[in-house]
Amino acid sequence: MIPHSCPTLGRAEEASVLKCLRSGQIAMGPQVEKFEQAFAGKFAVRDAAAVSSGTAALHLALLALDVKVGDEVIIPSYVCTALLNAVHYTGARAVLADVDALDANILALDVERKITRRTKAVIVPHMFGAPADLGALLKLGVPLIEDSAQAPGARYAGKPVGTFGRVNIFSFYATKMMATGEGGMVVSSDPKIMARVRDLLDYDHKPDYKVRFNYKMTDVAAALGLVQLKALGAFTARRKAIAAFYDEALSGLPCVLPLRREGAQPVHYRYVIGVKGSADRFIAAMVQKGIACARPLYRPLHQYLKIKGFPVSDQWMDHGVSLPIYPSLTKVQAQRVVRGVQSLLTGKGGRK
Ligand SMILES: *Cc1c(COP(=O)(O)O)cnc(C)c1O
Repeated sequence: MIPHSCPTLGRAEEASVLKCLRSGQIAMGPQVEKFEQAFAGKFAVRDAAAVSSGTAALHLALLALDVKVGDEVIIPSYVCTALLNAVHYTGARAVLADVDALDANILALDVERKITRRTKAVIVPHMFGAPADLGALLKLGVPLIEDSAQAPGARYAGKPVGTFGRVNIFSFYATKMMATGEGGMVVSSDPKIMARVRDLLDYDHKPDYKVRFNYKMTDVAAALGLVQLKALGAFTARRKAIAAFYDEALSGLPCVLPLRREGAQPVHYRYVIGVKGSADRFIAAMVQKGIACARPLYRPLHQYLKIKGFPVSDQWMDHGVSLPIYPSLTKVQAQRVVRGVQSLLTGKGGRK
């Protein structure tokens, strides 16, 4: 079976983790500090705070913007529940916006319609590694939290994503672009925001008492992250090559291939095609061929919340199929994926 996603871990990761273990320093310590500095340097941002997950990063980003009970935060309907949870942790209300048929990213036009006097922030994920419509979203005048969990290294108008929002977050979950098992990062060029984030992520050695969290990253995770960060460029180049191969090999078939927003340079975290019939049926048939495809999202938020009016999210849900793409996917495996898709879409055996 060709897996749908897979972390890329090698000798350098092993050596780095082993060195960390042997140092006896396994909780937050010097490795975390080094990782934060390397990450901030890579994306040319003033400061970066490592945390235990992308969800923790989102929670802290919201708290740093003083989001609380009575506030509203706009998030897309077509996204994982991590965003909904983070908003709910703060006691604020999550307001859903539909997404773009082009690239599954939050639709600025629908965000605009949903802004009220209570709107405190908009969370903007860059779905499948493709930058959202930051130009239009920035014009709305509401603070943005960029969620670059799927898109470290992607660029919009020539600048890396994760540098446009008031606060920005990343995730290093096992199957993301770069992995530390679990982990995340909060980035902002505003020193006051970063001071709040750093204050809240750790509970110990504080002069006063208030509710704080234990959202610290471990040195073991940071030791992994340091190596993965160095490899990110090579990882992305490999993903780009696979995406280009799929683009070429699948063109002309009766399905929708990933489309690119103007000014966006994606990192190809996912390669999602739109099939005419049921995505579930297509995925089951691919699995029969030994190729693990997946729905790119388990369930959109409006379906969990049992509300209607998100037709484009429903379309992505019903027809979106994510094909295997990751740095260790071989050419031969990618060719098998293509033959599988060809044979299902043309009803033929697929060319040899
Ligand atoms: C993975 C992901 C998250 C959550 O990150 P965790 O590290 O799993 O908590 C949030 N937003 C997006 C867009 C993601 O892909």
